[in-house]
Amino acid sequence: MHSARHFTLLFAALFALAPFAAAQNFDAVEITATPLGGNVHLLQGQGGNMAVSIGGDGALLVDDQFGPLADKTKAKIAELGGGAPAFILNTHWHGDHTGGNEFFADAGTIIAHDNVRLRLADAARLPDALPVITYAEGISVHYNGEEIRLIHLPAGHTDGDSAVWFTGSKVIHLGDEFVNNGFPFIDIQSGGTLVGFLANARRVLELVPDDILLIPGHGTVSSKAQFGQWLADLTESVNLVQVKMSEGKDLPSIIAEGLPEKYASWGQGFINESAWITTIYNSASASPR
Ligand SMILES: [Zn+2]
Repeated sequence: MHSARHFTLLFAALFALAPFAAAQNFDAVEITATPLGGNVHLLQGQGGNMAVSIGGDGALLVDDQFGPLADKTKAKIAELGGGAPAFILNTHWHGDHTGGNEFFADAGTIIAHDNVRLRLADAARLPDALPVITYAEGISVHYNGEEIRLIHLPAGHTDGDSAVWFTGSKVIHLGDEFVNNGFPFIDIQSGGTLVGFLANARRVLELVPDDILLIPGHGTVSSKAQFGQWLADLTESVNLVQVKMSEGKDLPSIIAEGLPEKYASWGQGFINESAWITTIYNSASASPR
């Protein structure tokens, strides 16, 4: 328990500091744009993946990475034919997704779940960084000729995550409820739970049409089939650990035995294999069996 808590506190501290980016130099980072369909482009630099809708009404941005990258993001949107975003949607509160809020709030309105506002305020972010419009369950923005649905995904990565579904463009941004460059991070300090994380992913899988593109918070854009495979593999890793627990094995033994070879690449990212196993172990032992 102690080491899991230590992990979580460490990550929480990293996220809290992320918007200020004290130790990072962003000078060499370039923002790239990839058209995904309809009005929507994927924007990538450093930090969480962004999406931008550009059309007759103007520009709408989903997530805004780190503060020092905001002017580059704005320039890339201008290059694509958009002005300063009129709306900025935050998938959740972490600084690698909201670091540009203060910058974009000058010209735009930030929309996010109620708990994003609470947690950004708790993290002592400037008042400008806080969402102006918040919601408990969801909200729709009718913009650039389509309904853009924000759907709250409760108690998963955090307690304030939303999916942003561009229903006409057939693109959905899942924030860190979907990451495919490694094991996911369940931010328990921010109200996240493993059970909720998996339930949210299953809900998304049932909700979206077959021809949708899914943007992960970190990693590469996926088809629905690829998303389904990711969820199946992730769920399998949880089941494998829970079987070992039911056999009475303790955490060090389960970590020592490890996961099958197919998960080797998953452990190379932000959450290594032992951290993921620890997350599963602590989640399962905390829930009724
Ligand atoms: Zn996050």
